[in-house]
Amino acid sequence: MNVGPIRAVLDRAAGAGRELRLWWRDDDAVTATPELDRLLALARAVGAPVAIAAIPARLHVSLRMRLRDEAGARILVHGLAHANHAAPGRKKAEFGDDRPLGTLAADAGAGLARARDLAGPLLLPVFVPPWNRVTATLTPLLPGLGYAGLSTFGTVRPCPDLVVLNTHLDPVDWRGSRGALESLALAAALERALADRQDAPIGLLTHHLMFDEPHWAATAEILECLATHPAVRFPSLEELWSAEGRHCTVTCLMT
Ligand SMILES: [Zn+2]
Repeated sequence: MNVGPIRAVLDRAAGAGRELRLWWRDDDAVTATPELDRLLALARAVGAPVAIAAIPARLHVSLRMRLRDEAGARILVHGLAHANHAAPGRKKAEFGDDRPLGTLAADAGAGLARARDLAGPLLLPVFVPPWNRVTATLTPLLPGLGYAGLSTFGTVRPCPDLVVLNTHLDPVDWRGSRGALESLALAAALERALADRQDAPIGLLTHHLMFDEPHWAATAEILECLATHPAVRFPSLEELWSAEGRHCTVTCLMT
């Protein structure tokens, strides 16, 4: 990948005196695998902490065992079972508006309880709804269920009692070939994210279990570009999730 267009956006932001905070979320892990090893090696190489959004219903204790010695790695709550409950013809969602609100709240609570059991001290109580979709009626209930944060993809809006950090950059062309996205499209997404909330952290989203070699290569090049840029910093995940302002998502784009 030619990361020139991405670097140009970063250079312009730096020229305007901006300091950018980046964070990295990776979705769908349930256990320790060779692919996870590869992800963690990449995280170490670029010095970026990675937030692993794990699926509670299938979560295995080996994930915690594998992550516990990885500096900065943390586990987030990726729904409950990553099951699609959307009606036929609708976009996939586990926490969309196709089920009663009480059922959604019970499942979100069960996801957190199981993740706490299996992730232990590595858990950050952050809800990451599968397919980045959550109905707006559920988000006000998340703090009462024990969640401190919410993360999806795209634009955010203010929401009481929840820290919201979204993701904005996804190296996979989900809407097209499912290959690696072109750098111009990623640069445009970065530019949109910078314009959207001037001081908000920018999130990179990956799915290491579906990556092929071009995905890995693109992700490594993007991370290298971000992590070596003088205007960019990757704070610790604790710092981001405790200090960031309170915002929540209206909708999501897709992945
Ligand atoms: Zn997922």
